Amino acid sequence: MNFVIPPRPQASLPVAGSDKHFPVNRVYCVGRNYAEHAREMGHDPDREPPFFFQKNPHNLDTSGEFPYPVKSQDVHWEIEMMAALKSGGKDIAEADALNHVFGYGIALDMTRRDLQGEAKKMGRPWEIGKAFDRSAPCTSLVPATETGHLAKGAIWLDVNGDRKQDGDLAQMIWSIPEQIAYLSSHFELHAGDVILTGTPAGVSACKRGDKFTGHVDGLPDLNVTVI
Ligand code: MN
Repeated sequence: MNFVIPPRPQASLPVAGSDKHFPVNRVYCVGRNYAEHAREMGHDPDREPPFFFQKNPHNLDTSGEFPYPVKSQDVHWEIEMMAALKSGGKDIAEADALNHVFGYGIALDMTRRDLQGEAKKMGRPWEIGKAFDRSAPCTSLVPATETGHLAKGAIWLDVNGDRKQDGDLAQMIWSIPEQIAYLSSHFELHAGDVILTGTPAGVSACKRGDKFTGHVDGLPDLNVTVI
């Protein structure tokens, strides 16, 4: 291919225990997927169908550092499990959905809550609150051939050693197969698509110097420092 400018390198995630990388195509994030978190954000979890927003592939960041972003005084943590797809399609059946999952990891859906709140109030898109540079600190991916498919087990976040979020994957309102089926009914999914699967209750504001430890049973922990 004869590009007129040098293309940016492919966004990717390391694969744990190997020298291989997973090429990232798109990053979908489900909103309000744990009932207690929906309630803490002021919503009734029983009445709402799933909804998704996107981050950018290059927002994923395995450096272990999260630079406090500009233009915000209220940057929240959200611990989430991520699922990465090795194949895609349209109208994927729930029963077939997990056959498309390459593996799993842990991510933080970092959020400029003040800017997201303004966007919500004005009926504007959420990108300014959600899709900023390095907004998704995360781990390497672990292949599902090693972990099995993860549908239950603890998901928690410690901030400076204090447990701030504490849930179980089984509390997801929309399971991962349901999320894949729903997304694929609206978009053709592709190999390389990554889904952030929602956060349990306990989101709050971080500050420079905070140390995050994120955990999902069956995966290596996520360790991130806010700089
Ligand atoms: Mn989130």
